Amino acid sequence: MALLGNGLSEQLESAFPWLGHAGSGWAPVAAGFALLSVAIVLFMLVLVLKQRLADSVRRRNEDRYNLAKFSSAVMNSGSMIAITDCEGRIEYVNERFCAITGFDRSDAIGKPLNILRPAASRNGNPEKRGNDILDCLQPSWEGEMLCSRKDGETFWSTVNVSAVYDNENAIANFVVSGVDITELKVANQRMEQLALFDSLTGLANRRLFLDRLEQAIINARRHQCQVALLFLDLDQFKRINDTLGHDAGDMLLLTVADRLKSCVRSQDTVARLGGDEFTILLNDIHDPQSVNVAAKNILRTLKAPIRLQNQEVIVSTSIGVTVAPGDSEDPENLMKNADLALYRAKEKGRDQHHFFTEELNQRAIRQLHLEQELRYALQFDEFNLMYQPQVDLRSGEMICVEALIRWHHPQRGLISPDDFIPVAEETGLIVPIGNWVLRNACMQMKLLQQLTGCDLRVAVNLSARQFRDPNLELVISDALDASGLEPRHLEIEVTESMLMDDITSVTEQLSRIKSTGVIITIDDFGTGYSSLRYLKCLPVDVLKVDREFVRDIPEDLNDMEITSAVIAIAHKLGLRVIAEGVENIDQKDFLVINKCDYAQGYLFSRPLSFEDLFKHFGDLKDNALKRA
Ligand code: C2E
Ligand code: MG
Ligand code: MG
Repeated sequence: MALLGNGLSEQLESAFPWLGHAGSGWAPVAAGFALLSVAIVLFMLVLVLKQRLADSVRRRNEDRYNLAKFSSAVMNSGSMIAITDCEGRIEYVNERFCAITGFDRSDAIGKPLNILRPAASRNGNPEKRGNDILDCLQPSWEGEMLCSRKDGETFWSTVNVSAVYDNENAIANFVVSGVDITELKVANQRMEQLALFDSLTGLANRRLFLDRLEQAIINARRHQCQVALLFLDLDQFKRINDTLGHDAGDMLLLTVADRLKSCVRSQDTVARLGGDEFTILLNDIHDPQSVNVAAKNILRTLKAPIRLQNQEVIVSTSIGVTVAPGDSEDPENLMKNADLALYRAKEKGRDQHHFFTEELNQRAIRQLHLEQELRYALQFDEFNLMYQPQVDLRSGEMICVEALIRWHHPQRGLISPDDFIPVAEETGLIVPIGNWVLRNACMQMKLLQQLTGCDLRVAVNLSARQFRDPNLELVISDALDASGLEPRHLEIEVTESMLMDDITSVTEQLSRIKSTGVIITIDDFGTGYSSLRYLKCLPVDVLKVDREFVRDIPEDLNDMEITSAVIAIAHKLGLRVIAEGVENIDQKDFLVINKCDYAQGYLFSRPLSFEDLFKHFGDLKDNALKRA
């Protein structure tokens, strides 16, 4: 301790009292130890301070580096970035901001962020312009916004806003970043357009219409009013499309779409479901009479002449109407109801509207039942054929028989074709039923010829639906091949409305059938809307004057004139004429005088069973044999 001097020694002793008590031998060691401890502590302190200094320098460097990195990232970011003060005044904009908006830094800095706000946005449609730029300056905000460039052109941008806070936790700045999504937006709009709108007319499509219908039903329930659904179908659109071409057809649909829009209010929806089918949703109906008025207005508006390829055409329309929530509250059901009502409007003679009634629904249910029964009928052989003779008015000889189908229902007895053929046509069952008729008629005629030696033809009625079956020609040739009947002994009867439905393709098909030797007749002539112009180019052999014109001969002068004119024109065109429904001698005499070739009707014979027909020819044969 002496070595350390008295002062220090005392101090050490007072600091480490045990040194003094330990005896003088230990004192220098203890002092040395203490000194060493102090030195170590000092050394450690220096080390810590040095480390702290190094850390602080490194952090400062890192901060500087990060700042440089971040500002470079902000400057060169692919997003446009603007930093504003807490009130939205621009303090900084990056390169991309300038490139997209057209504002350079000197234009933008110091200005409020709403220099990006489109001029028209104050009075524009809020849905179309999106969010407002002034509303987005919040601590954290993201969305899409229509913005304006310096030249006033608008563009769509995503916008992300985040706030920067100062030491007092108050907002100091907003960092606003965005990406130009105009192209994406346009592509999305295009896709939406395709998914929800009809590409030709721009009207709503089925999907959008059903959606709006659903909404309208909910609203109607809430506001205790009604909505009306109108289902429209243009009468004879197919004919115009086929004769004037598809461009003219498109023009017609566009005109119809425009006219329909002009007939409704802004809260209503006009849609095109496809082809010539349109639907209209009338909202907020308080007076059911207004639906009537609207439907009549539509019928009248659409009927104004339309100029297509230098021709004026007049289109009429049929409309089915259903009302919600009265008729139903289900969109699909309402569509079905309106469709049934439309069908009824067409049945009643087109160019009119018809409201859905429960009776129509019941009828549809009955038809569904009938369809099921028709399937059984085919499977369990409940059909048979009757044959009605057709006679040559000059010789009085039977030259042909018309095959007429009959259905022997196990419970309901005999059902007339007028009661089931329309259902069979609608459901497509007419194709297998018609094929059955063709095969059996050919088979029985061949059998009759073989058994009696007669030289008779059989006429078979074909329905429009069978003409849409691509196998029709094959079915005819198979029926002929399987039976061995010569084509000249088969006649097919087609109705004029069926020919007009799709004149081009039916004409081609008929020409091919006719070229095989099969005879072609236009049935029920005069009841449809075929024009004499077409008659000239149609591949037909015989015209069958509808019994409607024959019925009132000799009382109705008009009918007589029509019938004699048809006979004369048909002869001029090289066609033969048959009159159907001849029931009395006056009618027959009139036809003979007017040089009608053939006749068919109760005057000559009612439809006969195959057995009766066979008996008739059998008797003829026997008599001939007896005479010989
Ligand atoms: P349609 O082809 O015009 O057949 C003539 C209809 O007039 C037959 O009625 C026949 O019985 C009836 N009739 C014949 N002579 C007279 C008469 O002097 N006075 C009156 N008032 N009627 C007469 P049916 O057999 O009831 O056939 C009705 C319709 O059903 C046919 O009219 C035809 O369009 C359709 N049909 C009949 N069989 C078939 C078939 O196998 N296939 C297709 N697709 N339709 C058929
Ligand atoms: Mg017929
Ligand atoms: Mg007929």
